[in-house]
Amino acid sequence: MLQPLGKNTLTFEETTGMKIGFIGLGNMGNPMAANLAKAGHEVTGFDMADVSVAGLTMAGSGAEAAANADIVITMLPNGKILRAVGDEIIPTMQPGAVWVDCSTVDVDSARAVADQAKEAGILAVDAPVSGGIGGAAAGTLTFMAGGSDTAFAKAAPLFDIMGQKAVHCGDSGAGQAAKICNNMILGVTMIATCEAFALADKLGLDRQKMFDVVSTSSGYSWTMNAYCPAPGVGPESPADNNYQPGFAAELMLKDLRLSQQAAESSDADTPMGQAATALYEQFVESEGGLGMDFSAMLPRFEKRGRG
Ligand code: NAD
Repeated sequence: MLQPLGKNTLTFEETTGMKIGFIGLGNMGNPMAANLAKAGHEVTGFDMADVSVAGLTMAGSGAEAAANADIVITMLPNGKILRAVGDEIIPTMQPGAVWVDCSTVDVDSARAVADQAKEAGILAVDAPVSGGIGGAAAGTLTFMAGGSDTAFAKAAPLFDIMGQKAVHCGDSGAGQAAKICNNMILGVTMIATCEAFALADKLGLDRQKMFDVVSTSSGYSWTMNAYCPAPGVGPESPADNNYQPGFAAELMLKDLRLSQQAAESSDADTPMGQAATALYEQFVESEGGLGMDFSAMLPRFEKRGRG
């Protein structure tokens, strides 16, 4: 169910002046928290690293940042850290407060922390994002959310500030499920696009002609049309910046691994996802892909033959 975002159904108190605790102020969390402060909310932040964010009051711990908050937002690297932060903040949060986790983590961790929060009378939403660092800075992220209708409704005004769209996907874990399914398609499609370019090269086809045909034919995709992995072809993309990320290959690998972990635990057959995971693993761990954009699969294929 797609929930339209709009401020006009909300009272002034609901759109400004909320007490927000923001934990995890890295590449994504930092600009997201800054946007909330800019919109008039009272944001208390915490990060393990020594960071400062425009408009935030910094706390000495996650528990302190969460203690008096109406809404706590977390933006953390993985499920293990999320569970540890949950153990720390849930006992200090007010009953009736909302915990919105925007990290990309495994579905099991998302469901476990949501159950733990609900037992303490806290409303929980898993709300991973799409849109990257640019979207976080511009306030144009897409949120895919899991949790009750009440929890989603309470978080919606903040999604409106940090993003341009929020889809309520279902109960706890549904946001993470949507995120990893989307990113499994993304990984598979990027590989397919790159191998097709490398084949086209070997067949003597000009890359621009390849783009002109595929981007308007049945092979079109986001990876071809919006994020073309061939330098100088299609819209500006990390390929035009020496494959500097953008979206790093190791983050793609993280999300592909999450998809395979979910496929294992739900007995889903995902051969393409499995193949993409193995290929990104090889690329990141032994072929120099670490720190490169995930579209750098194209120069990888370029150098290879069938053997
Ligand atoms: P990041 O590593 O830049 O930020 C994570 C922050 O969490 C760091 O500043 C770290 O110090 C902090 N942290 C770690 N443990 C902590 C703890 N116990 N308490 C408080 N702070 C702690 O990562 P990021 O790029 O901001 O990504 C955050 C999440 O968003 C990840 O789950 C990632 O997969 C997801 N994501 C990232 C992007 C992207 O383009 N970077 C896009 C979509 C989703």
